[in-house]
Amino acid sequence: VLSVEGVHKVFGDRHVLRGISVDVDDHQVVALIGASGSGKSTLLRCINLLEPVDDGVIRLDGADITDPRADPDRVRRRIGIVFQAYNLFPHMSVLANVTLAPVHVHRVPAAQARAKALELLARIGLADLAGAYPDRLSGGQQQRVAIVRALMNSPRLLLLDEVTSALDPELVGEVLALIRDLRAEGMTMLLATHEMGFARQVADRVCFLDGGTLVEQGPPEQVLGDPQEPRTRQFLARII
Ligand code: ATP
Ligand code: MG
Repeated sequence: VLSVEGVHKVFGDRHVLRGISVDVDDHQVVALIGASGSGKSTLLRCINLLEPVDDGVIRLDGADITDPRADPDRVRRRIGIVFQAYNLFPHMSVLANVTLAPVHVHRVPAAQARAKALELLARIGLADLAGAYPDRLSGGQQQRVAIVRALMNSPRLLLLDEVTSALDPELVGEVLALIRDLRAEGMTMLLATHEMGFARQVADRVCFLDGGTLVEQGPPEQVLGDPQEPRTRQFLARII
């Protein structure tokens, strides 16, 4: 589905991504781990075309999306992204939040978007709250709505950036359960996380980033349980 080849990103004098290559295959879940500032969010933002890359190529289903002629709206319709802070619009109902982009950016008929939104909300048990404003929802409910919003266009790939880190611990479980359900349904996902337990549970492959370089990747039991690279070992020793 996704192929990142030799991607570099520079902010001023900061070389943040230093030739990252990573593939995500159909129905695969890949977790990015690494210290704060290692480049996880920047990589996800480059894949969603929120940041231009300075070198390298990103392909989605074989097509080069970093080509200047690629239409960012079309790409974003096929790549959903969810951030740490849920970013729902406070002055809009849950239903309006979820249908906003499909209707106003992607020109989906309003009735069709509404039906799809209600179906997705029902699946996560939040159909009753479709008319509510975000401040009536718990953090976990808001984050699940944000995930539903990212699913509205039936994306090929879902990017999740620390989607549980802003939540109180008792609310993390419901968001993780939704991600596990999506995985069971075959959704292809690339996620950044600080929670090694979560990476171990949902990821088919874990990629360790350090200073903008992909140092080591492999099955979670290998990278987290028996890392080969000294830098991975140091990182894991520090966080445990
Ligand atoms: P965290 O675990 O804290 O979320 P991260 O791995 O997601 O960290 P990034 O947010 O990708 O790290 O940041 C990587 C580096 O790029 C950091 O040094 C950060 O300060 C820098 N950076 C990110 N965005 C910008 C920007 N828009 N302008 C300048 N520097 C930036
Ligand atoms: Mg980040």
